Amino acid sequence: MASSVETLEFQAETRQLLQLVIHSIYSNKDIFLRELISNASDALDKLRLESLIDSDLAADASDPHITLEADKEARTLTVRDNGIGMTREEVVELIGTIAKSGTGRLLEKIKEAKDAAAAQNLIGQFGVGFYSAFMVADKVTLRTRRAGTDEGTLWESDGEGTYDIQAVDGLPAGTSVTLHLRPADTEDGLADYLAEWKIRQIVKQYSDFIRWPIRMATERTPAADGTDGAPVEGTDTLNSMKALWARPRSEVSEAEYSEFYQQISHDRLAPAETIHMRAEGNFEYEALLFIPAQAPFDLFSQETRRGVQLYVKRVFIMDDCEALMPNYLRFVKGVVDAHDLSLNISREILQHDRQIRGVRRHLVKKVLRAVKDMQAKNAEGYTRLWGQFGTVLKEGLLEDPDNAETLLELVSAASTHDAEKTTTLREYVGRMKDGQDAIYYLTGETRATVENSPHMEAFAAKGYEVLILTDPVDEVWAERIPAFDGHRFQSIAKGQVDLDEPADGDEQDEAGKARREQDFGALLPWLTTALSDRVKEVRLSSRLTTSAACLVGDAHDMTPTLEKMYRAMGQQIPSVKRILELNPAHPLVTALRSAHEANADDPALPEIAELVYGSALLAEGGDLPDPARFSRLLMDRLSSTL
Ligand code: ADP
Ligand code: MG
Repeated sequence: MASSVETLEFQAETRQLLQLVIHSIYSNKDIFLRELISNASDALDKLRLESLIDSDLAADASDPHITLEADKEARTLTVRDNGIGMTREEVVELIGTIAKSGTGRLLEKIKEAKDAAAAQNLIGQFGVGFYSAFMVADKVTLRTRRAGTDEGTLWESDGEGTYDIQAVDGLPAGTSVTLHLRPADTEDGLADYLAEWKIRQIVKQYSDFIRWPIRMATERTPAADGTDGAPVEGTDTLNSMKALWARPRSEVSEAEYSEFYQQISHDRLAPAETIHMRAEGNFEYEALLFIPAQAPFDLFSQETRRGVQLYVKRVFIMDDCEALMPNYLRFVKGVVDAHDLSLNISREILQHDRQIRGVRRHLVKKVLRAVKDMQAKNAEGYTRLWGQFGTVLKEGLLEDPDNAETLLELVSAASTHDAEKTTTLREYVGRMKDGQDAIYYLTGETRATVENSPHMEAFAAKGYEVLILTDPVDEVWAERIPAFDGHRFQSIAKGQVDLDEPADGDEQDEAGKARREQDFGALLPWLTTALSDRVKEVRLSSRLTTSAACLVGDAHDMTPTLEKMYRAMGQQIPSVKRILELNPAHPLVTALRSAHEANADDPALPEIAELVYGSALLAEGGDLPDPARFSRLLMDRLSSTL
């Protein structure tokens, strides 16, 4: 007993938006199914809620589910739910209009937007879910009956400007949306949406954790042991519904966490740490994050994907959501499920969304706290973790100044204190000598070159502990971070070093220094000139005990390793000249002084100067600019002494 059909026009703005949706918004057409399933799931949620509040509601909420039906002959795909349904007024209001304030303004902005990408970003702020059906269908038929009412409504449109609406009898409560599919066209990104495998794949990818069963009538081939013959019909539930993150922690076992982690990370090992949290308040979300036990092979590649998966109310939105994790926590895996975002949210909008930034800040704190707890409670596990991710975590010292303090507490570094074990900065500070005001460190390529570098000599002799930093990133943060616990960081290869204990009578010492400088008064300027191509100054050192010379930088000069790193990255940077420091007590240095005093024009002197410089460079693990020449000068020198 169908009543008369009424044809209505879409609201003008709706029509414009419709055209946009169909033609330009989504590059990925598969997502229409995600949108329709999400609407169906919302409708089931609403029915569940309403039947709880209103026990008189004449509706059956006993088996809430979503059904997908592919009819190959009619070329239709139907998404059906037994949820809340809509009244006729609701259909007109919700489907015929975009009942969202600011739609007009949005359209204005879209018109102003310079390109498609900008328009897409704007649209990402608004839900246009239902209309995405027109990307794949040239006609959409919606049948619906509001639970608790008698009158059903049929709505139909080709998405071109008008829709038909009429009352119909005999509909079950809930909604069905039937898509009259356009022919598959791979060039246009239109897959065969009647193919069972395709439907399964889309559901698995986007809707696996929808909490209601998504069922589909399937063709089954009988098991090999069973009777053969024609395929039999069956009903399959396509989604796992296992959204672990939405369950209370107490109800999830370690094994389930591990299994889930392995599923999303493709890692064979169980995670080192699991973080499961729920945030309530004006922006609700759940997060289930994992710190892997081992670093992926591409942790340092430029292309490495970072970030966690983003869901909105259990609907998968995107992988590698970089807006939710900073780069230095790119090894963290997991899921964030936000409740109040549009399904169509874009990466760009996420990057600038204030609430998302708040979520990210919160997640970072949680991850760092978990790492810190591990450091406190599980030394062995922490050592392993630091071995895997320490280098990346140190990038955070540069990237995330707000958390630098926490990150400094996490740093674990080799040190001259113990050849086997690393130290934390806290432990280092605890061992600092009276009167020591800085945290001493030396950077280099390997522990051996750093340990044996001449710069270490006086520090070793006086018993000062020096951190041995051999990660490329150390070069940068140690320079950039002003202090830890009130103690500044001081590279022992930079600036002036004065290790003489102040208690030992300053005056005497000052006098001694002045005298030495007078003694070398002629040699130093001469050497500075002779080596002017290579160094900016030659001066006396107080950091050497056994070596004759070493090279140091000015306080803010780039270190040679850093220079090399920049060059390796293809950057053109001027080479930084360093300072050559001489050990006034070394026999070679005193002999050089005497020789210079005796005859400042001795032709051997410039060559010896070059050898002293070259040896200092070699001793710190540096590369000689002209090794062949160095070697020849050295051989000549040696043969003349025999
Ligand atoms: P959104 O889901 O972001 O609100 P949509 O365009 O997907 O936007 O849907 C518009 C509205 O239509 C929904 O908010 C809902 O009120 C209604 N609706 C759509 N599909 C259904 C359904 N299966 N059952 C009940 N109501 C629905
Ligand atoms: Mg929707």
